[in-house]
Amino acid sequence: MNWNDYPYDFELERIKRLIKERGARRIGLQLPAGLKRVAPGIATDISDATGADVIISGNSCYGACDIDEKLAGIVDMLFHFGHTELKKGGFTNEASKIVYSLQKKVVFIELRSSVDVMPVVEKAVAAIKGNSVGLVATVQHVHTLGEAKKMLARMGKEVVIGKSNKLKYEGQVLGCDFSSAVVSCDEILFVGSGTFHPAGIALYTGKRIIAADPFTTQINILEADALRKKRYLAIEKALDAKSFGILISMKSGQFNLGKAIALRSKALDKGLTAFLIAMDEISEEILLGFKVDAFVNTACPRLAEDFGQFKVLSCKEFEVVLGERSWEDIF
Ligand code: SF4
Repeated sequence: MNWNDYPYDFELERIKRLIKERGARRIGLQLPAGLKRVAPGIATDISDATGADVIISGNSCYGACDIDEKLAGIVDMLFHFGHTELKKGGFTNEASKIVYSLQKKVVFIELRSSVDVMPVVEKAVAAIKGNSVGLVATVQHVHTLGEAKKMLARMGKEVVIGKSNKLKYEGQVLGCDFSSAVVSCDEILFVGSGTFHPAGIALYTGKRIIAADPFTTQINILEADALRKKRYLAIEKALDAKSFGILISMKSGQFNLGKAIALRSKALDKGLTAFLIAMDEISEEILLGFKVDAFVNTACPRLAEDFGQFKVLSCKEFEVVLGERSWEDIF
């Protein structure tokens, strides 16, 4: 499959222009797993047009924070597809400092989708119970929100689009930043694919989420109460746990060593056993090898969804287990 067959803007003309303008001779490409298959075609096209050597990252690429640090170190420019840069100063944790320094060498190619979102937004109206709705999207569809807002207004809905001070666009959400969904409204309409973002928004805002997928035109409803209940159950089960593995991702954008050490120290103070476990890539095989009662995730929040069977708690959830935080204060 060629990149032309995908409904995304790969911005190849802009990429080639930037390479020529900057006189870059060695280029890195980083794409999410689902799009790696188009990387050889893109590399050939760029190389033919600019004469630059192009190196494709074979490593995983989970999000905006996940810049291939080693590759960035050996190329003149790194093109990172599928995400936007994190706004300077927005994130303040240990990992974000590394990301901000790496971003200087990176050009983000947002992969805006060319799919018409209006059919699925129109379909979603029937699922909206309240009068007012907050409108959010992943970066691939964020440019369509203005148009979607007008359509929803014509259909009698009051629409609010919020803005995160950590992200580039109005209405944009990231798996670890749902601030733009915190607006005064009855429900949230999410435009995008998958359940990771809408489930996170439901947990964070406590609101009912209508998830509208422009690619499949499917509508999915996520109820915050049911999702929050699952997290409370996970915490409750961990109250009996005696041993914890505190996970540290060595991916530069998810590296939160200070937080992990602080949590372990608090666990020891409570008479629990806790180990710090660092790894490049957190995987099922690795977690299976550790016989602990539960894990604590200091990396990407997606881990709790991907490895739910391993009893993975967020840092805040673990603080509830330690008696350092109230149940009401985890979202
Ligand atoms: S921590 Fe996870 S959700 Fe946040 S930017 Fe990184 S990959 Fe995306």
